Amino acid sequence: MAEQASGKKGFLSWYFGANLLVRIMIGLILGAIVGVALAFSAPETGQAFIKYTKFFGDLFINLLKMIVVPVIFLSLIAGGASIAPAQLGRVGVKTLCYYLGMTIVAVTIGLVMSTILSPGEGLGILGAEGAQGKAAKAPGFDQVLLAIVPTNPIASLAKGDVLPIIFFALIFGIALSFLKESANATLRRQAETLFDIVSAGAEVMYKIVHGIMQYAPIGVFVLIAIVFAQQGPRVIGPLVFVTALVYICLIMHIFIGYGGIMAVFGLNLFTFLKGAQEAMITAFVTRSSSATLPISLQVSEEKLGVPRSISSFALPIGATVNMEGTAIYLSVCATFIANAVGQPLTFDQQLTILITGTLGAIGAAGVPGAGAIMMLMVLESIGLKVEAGSAVAAAYAMILGIDALLDMGRTCMNVTGDINGVVIVSKSEGVLDLSKWKRA
Ligand code: ASP
Repeated sequence: MAEQASGKKGFLSWYFGANLLVRIMIGLILGAIVGVALAFSAPETGQAFIKYTKFFGDLFINLLKMIVVPVIFLSLIAGGASIAPAQLGRVGVKTLCYYLGMTIVAVTIGLVMSTILSPGEGLGILGAEGAQGKAAKAPGFDQVLLAIVPTNPIASLAKGDVLPIIFFALIFGIALSFLKESANATLRRQAETLFDIVSAGAEVMYKIVHGIMQYAPIGVFVLIAIVFAQQGPRVIGPLVFVTALVYICLIMHIFIGYGGIMAVFGLNLFTFLKGAQEAMITAFVTRSSSATLPISLQVSEEKLGVPRSISSFALPIGATVNMEGTAIYLSVCATFIANAVGQPLTFDQQLTILITGTLGAIGAAGVPGAGAIMMLMVLESIGLKVEAGSAVAAAYAMILGIDALLDMGRTCMNVTGDINGVVIVSKSEGVLDLSKWKRA
């Protein structure tokens, strides 16, 4: 979590020492104030501001883009390889089906609600260079499906084609997990070594993400100031609207998704929420599923009666791959961005988001801000490229500016979903301690 840059007091310690979330919020608010002031001042002043500060915003976008491919590749191999083949048995399959099914439900809720309510519609965001978003032509749904299987994984990596990378990394990881259990000792040792290397690589990437986030307050300040300078204060309303919409979808998912499945299994939703609340609050404030894992393990066992045999393997997997809140965020905010740049989603693009949103949620690491990086790949998959200076980058920056707020809600749901998964699987196996459920 928030680490100090170093033990000694450097001249920037006032910056690095302050809470990151607070710094980002300050960047956002200052950016909005400066941007609004510029919007009301002489056009030359705004242009000069953009000319001299654009570099700092673009730098942030480039830093984020730099990390996407390595993060997805390494964390998915590590994630895939950490599912032991033995656990791919009945309980494992049930758990994975639950996580996958609920993620699809989550993306669908996000898509349906944002189709009905059209966040960002009519915003008409322009790029810093006045360019409309690069509308790389969106491929059809069948092509998207076929293109998931890379004919040349190395080429996909080099080009940054995220879907084939995800596919390849996942099967690489699963194959590696089989090798880790091989009867041949040499193979086993080699697989363990490779696993260690990949896991270490993934950790290095998270460390870099952490470092990049130190720059986020400055990046957010500049990007938001430019957006407001160009678009004026009229963008505040849509941002409040999209935040509200994400939270409404999260709440709907609790009642429709969790409420529905719990009713099927004869369990009370409110007893569940009461039992899970400590983990939910921790997730909300830490914005990290991984950091919340110890609490999730504890409440599942102590408050909700999940046996350790299930929670100890299903919760860590859940904290890595099950991101239902992230799925909602990806679908709602991708729709917002598409609308904001004046390219509302087609049905094919929505189907594509169903896949990429699901995979993006699976690929997102359980650390703060991971979902925002996955957003880049979801946008890419529907032909909206986040290129420095483009309208899409400007709209993305708006979402990035409020990411901390959205991350709190989505992480809370991610963790709630993990715990719900182990409860349902335990109940279906007849091993849930129902005495914990007697008193609400
Ligand atoms: N922060 C989220 C989590 O840890 C991931 C995300 O950014 O969507 O679950």
